[in-house]
Amino acid sequence: MTSTTTHGTTATPTTDGTVDAPRSQAYFQEAQERTAHNYHPLPVVVAHAEGAWMTDVDGTRYLDMLAGYSALNFGHGHPELLAAAHEQLDKLTLTSRAFVHDQFGRFCAGLGDLAGKELVLPMNTGAEAVETAIKVARKWGYDIKGVENDSAEIIVAGGNFHGRTTTIVGFSDDPDARDGFGPFAPGFVQVPYGDAAALEEAITPNTVAVLIEPIQGEGGVVIPPTGYLRAVREITTRHNVLFAADEIQAGLGRTGRTFACDHEDVVPDLYVLGKALGGGIVPVSAVVANRDVLGVLHPGQHGSTFGGNALACAVGAKVVEILASGELQERSEKLGIVLRTRLESLVGRGALAVRTRGLWAGIDVDPAVGTGRAVCEALMARGVLAKDTHGSTIRLAPPLVVTEDDLNWGLDQLEAVVTGG
Ligand SMILES: *Cc1c(COP(=O)(O)O)cnc(C)c1O
Repeated sequence: MTSTTTHGTTATPTTDGTVDAPRSQAYFQEAQERTAHNYHPLPVVVAHAEGAWMTDVDGTRYLDMLAGYSALNFGHGHPELLAAAHEQLDKLTLTSRAFVHDQFGRFCAGLGDLAGKELVLPMNTGAEAVETAIKVARKWGYDIKGVENDSAEIIVAGGNFHGRTTTIVGFSDDPDARDGFGPFAPGFVQVPYGDAAALEEAITPNTVAVLIEPIQGEGGVVIPPTGYLRAVREITTRHNVLFAADEIQAGLGRTGRTFACDHEDVVPDLYVLGKALGGGIVPVSAVVANRDVLGVLHPGQHGSTFGGNALACAVGAKVVEILASGELQERSEKLGIVLRTRLESLVGRGALAVRTRGLWAGIDVDPAVGTGRAVCEALMARGVLAKDTHGSTIRLAPPLVVTEDDLNWGLDQLEAVVTGG
């Protein structure tokens, strides 16, 4: 098993907190010169990874405390996922949906069973799955609910993050995500997150769906008040409105349960899934719902060339199999207690507030300590990779396979950085 003692064996942290890493610097510079600057990456260049550890081109090891924004819930190079991918690569990778392949039914049945739903519509990226949910909700509104054509409304929450398409950024309230990309698609109404009364008030006869994240990941791991998800379920049912839960980041074990909605024993009408569904190997997303909802789509009305391809389905089916045992969810819950206990001890000692659920945390760093970016750079110099969000919040989402010792070691580094120890 991976031990922490070998981390940082080749690169030497310098006094200004950067790492003297000659090859990393060259690769990093090349990458920065030849790409659009739509990201602000930490200056690390990863060449190899296993489990919760990544190794850069200079041989320096880092504990991954971001896990690809939860796309790597099962860690890097999970042996069963890799084996499933390797096996499928040699047999068949893609047919398009013009033909059916032998992995398709298996994946859809497995994921449907995991979610307790009848039908699965596979796509590739999270944003595509969200777009799919929007289309399905509108179609359901016109065909089933009887809303007048082209007047469907979807209620979303303030502080949301659902992806980067023009439709989706149009209902974001983050100026970085939105400004400069209009004109935007109409039909979305925004209400404050966590406020069930405001949500109910926004419902009109044209409302077809409520689309929310059960926990807002990009927003900084914002957990709504207890009872909110239940209230959303009750209100949407009473008004004949669909409840679409964007579980792309919160779902699939991250919070200690299969779905974040499980914490309130709530079952939405549509699960929107992505990220970890591809096992960190291929992009796999899906909308999962019952026949009375997903059944509104007919041939020609929606599609994707790569959605549900054989490689994606083989990996996705293995992801479902791993989740079906419940082991990683349990592990996430158990290690989540360690995470919470340790982070709560930082409140007032460099952290203003912490929010955790399972192996997922948002830490609002005291601005006196530094920006979120500065904290992440200091963590990197200590062999821990994490990412800031919204200025002063650090998000921690280590792979669910992380060992307790490694997790504690990573939290030691965070504690040292924020307490100035
Ligand atoms: C990441 C994310 C998306 C978008 O997924 P992509 O694969 O990046 O398109 C949508 N919703 C939530 C909640 C996410 O975290």
